[in-house]
Amino acid sequence: MSCGFLFGLSMGSKKPSAKAKQLEEFRSQLGGMDDIFAREERRSEADAAKRDAAQLQKSCLSKNRYASYAEAQDAQAACAEHGTTGLHIYKCPHCHGWHLTSHPWDKD
Ligand SMILES: [Zn+2]
Repeated sequence: MSCGFLFGLSMGSKKPSAKAKQLEEFRSQLGGMDDIFAREERRSEADAAKRDAAQLQKSCLSKNRYASYAEAQDAQAACAEHGTTGLHIYKCPHCHGWHLTSHPWDKD
């Protein structure tokens, strides 16, 4: 995996379609991230990419993704049945799916 990909993720095109494609690649290669970050620990460029990746991990990759608002609603209801109430549904700007969050301000 090249370093250029990581930099492209933070400085790349704002077009949703291009970004979505980048993220798809990013997700598919996430398994190697820890090793890459360890090797580039002292590079400021890598630090920036790391922050982006951490934010992505927090707001998108670490969460369940639902293909539609209705699916997210089903999951929200299931959580409520198990005692987890107050969850909010939001459309993810990263993967364009839907996520649940207990923090409505935690959108990006
Ligand atoms: Zn997402």
